[in-house]
Amino acid sequence: MHIDMTYCIFCKSDTKNERSREHIIPESMGNADHVLPLGAVCHTCNQYFARKVERPLLESPIFRHLRAGMEVPSKRGRVPVWNTSDGLNLPGRRLMGRFLGKIGLEVLVHKTQNVSSWNKAIVEQSGLDELRNHVRFNAGEDWSFTSRTLHPVKAVFYDGAERYEILHEFDMLITDSSEYYSVVSIFGVEFTLNIGGRTTEGFERWLASNRGASPLYSGKNA
Ligand SMILES: [Zn+2]
Repeated sequence: MHIDMTYCIFCKSDTKNERSREHIIPESMGNADHVLPLGAVCHTCNQYFARKVERPLLESPIFRHLRAGMEVPSKRGRVPVWNTSDGLNLPGRRLMGRFLGKIGLEVLVHKTQNVSSWNKAIVEQSGLDELRNHVRFNAGEDWSFTSRTLHPVKAVFYDGAERYEILHEFDMLITDSSEYYSVVSIFGVEFTLNIGGRTTEGFERWLASNRGASPLYSGKNA
């Protein structure tokens, strides 16, 4: 059987023998389903993001507060504790930008994984190197992103008789000028990030010509 070579989308190392399962959004934020194909992310990068990017975010007061309120357990089944004295400080913008940038590259994998050359196309795309180096090696200036509340935390939606809460959703928006924005909603807040550069002006223009709709829903219920 022919086995394709695969390379890590962050550090470009050979991953054909790697067995780490990469979650696009951490399991401790309620994601059990959305994982990347084996070989997309090497074990070293997987561990790096877990320890240096996701853990500090998950331990920040606002995320502990949200997870406690919605009873979202960690991988080990524990719901975090939050006390009013912990406050509601947001994680720093740099850390948040790197977290969203990591998700952005992984959303791109998720959206293209059915094309046989997805791995080569992403690894060899030099336009993604800035973001790779920023999220994985903490290089360069902060990465910009936009955020806004789409629905109140703990909003409950009804689909027929079925009741559900939305913890997270994601998609890729390609604008008229061929910019790629990853769009992710976490606990009701929509975040967008341009995976090809640090500006978000293209998204602001998209918003203006789409009357402020969210790319997560726009055009999907027509
Ligand atoms: Zn790697």
